[in-house]
Amino acid sequence: MDYDRIFSDAIKSVKNEGRYRVFTDIERQRGSFPNATWYTEDGVKDITVWCSNDYLGMGQHPKVISAMEDALRNTGAGAGGTRNISGNNHYHVLLEQELADLHGKEAGLLFTSGYISNEATISTMAKLMPGCVIFSDALNHASMIEGIRHSGCEKHIFRHNDVEHLESLLKACDPNVPKLIAFESVYSMDGDFAPIREFCDLADKYNALTYLDEVHAVGMYGLRGGGLADRENLMDRLTVIEGTLGKAFGLMGGYITSTADIVDAVRTFASGFIFTTSLSPVVTAGALASVRHLKESQIERQIHQERAAVLKEKMRAADLPVMPSVSHIVPVLVGDPVICKQASDILLDEFNIYVQPINFPTVPRGLERLRFTPSPLHTDEMVDHLITSLSAVWAQLDVKKFANAA
Ligand code: PMP
Repeated sequence: MDYDRIFSDAIKSVKNEGRYRVFTDIERQRGSFPNATWYTEDGVKDITVWCSNDYLGMGQHPKVISAMEDALRNTGAGAGGTRNISGNNHYHVLLEQELADLHGKEAGLLFTSGYISNEATISTMAKLMPGCVIFSDALNHASMIEGIRHSGCEKHIFRHNDVEHLESLLKACDPNVPKLIAFESVYSMDGDFAPIREFCDLADKYNALTYLDEVHAVGMYGLRGGGLADRENLMDRLTVIEGTLGKAFGLMGGYITSTADIVDAVRTFASGFIFTTSLSPVVTAGALASVRHLKESQIERQIHQERAAVLKEKMRAADLPVMPSVSHIVPVLVGDPVICKQASDILLDEFNIYVQPINFPTVPRGLERLRFTPSPLHTDEMVDHLITSLSAVWAQLDVKKFANAA
């Protein structure tokens, strides 16, 4: 048995398709985000990051840094165990209360990532409801799909954001079985919004629970940064609201908020919560400062939205194929994996612009793209440099021909 061959062949096929991923070796310098240093084989170079999910730059915020420095001095570096066995720190308790309040829910529960929070919560909730049927949006994130798989429940996938399709599936289902509708608020690759109200209406009509992933919206939408459901005044209509601390809040970790009973059940039965070391109190203290700041402050959200709108407008004016996103996410269609990677490489090598190519399976084949995430810290000069650089690369690679074909 040639074991090595098995793995090298698997990698080779991904390389042949042009979608082999390589890390870009960068270092963010404190206080200078979105600029960063890129470590190349030929030395170091200053670049501008255009694909960070630290959407508001909170990973660099003075309040966050100082809260983390204090926590490091007060408690040391690590949590020291799982939440149940010595790893429960006062910062965890405070942050869970803060997050429950953010979403208007009875309780909150922290996880070491948003990925785990989805996987662990969906699989645990569904397993606790014998006969449960799950209804899942076709574009749901891999972490929700894994949770659904691990639950072993019957599942129905409804067309992305399609209220009528979801209703037809709910209607065809036994009215007496437990049901869970799982969806996201802001979809990360297209930047579109879910019809949250309509999905909640269907949940009421067919007596289903709802699970909303607000990973790309928490901190950024709503008067206190509670997400899209906060902005739409719908938080009380959702059973579970899930979020991350790794994007707009600038740190790492994930969480759910819900009724006290559901949170307690997940805390009690979810392996992904129980059998793992809890978040470092340093990270937790930083997240607490970040959530508290964004509950009070509107300025980051406002500038963020303005930046995204200006970027889209300038791209359209430059005849770049920006996709119809209604959110802060700015996807530009390329339509070919090899050209997408080449465009990203040239932007980095020649124009000091870092944007990662987005290829299959993250997006469907033929819809390969560059996904830009402007932050409040990107300046007008950075935006203008991006537009001229992109136009140059588009002309050099004749990208239009691929985008048109897609
Ligand atoms: N849900 C969605 C929609 C995501 O895009 C992601 C990560 N990109 C996650 C969950 C996982 O969150 P985290 O990065 O905190 O693990």
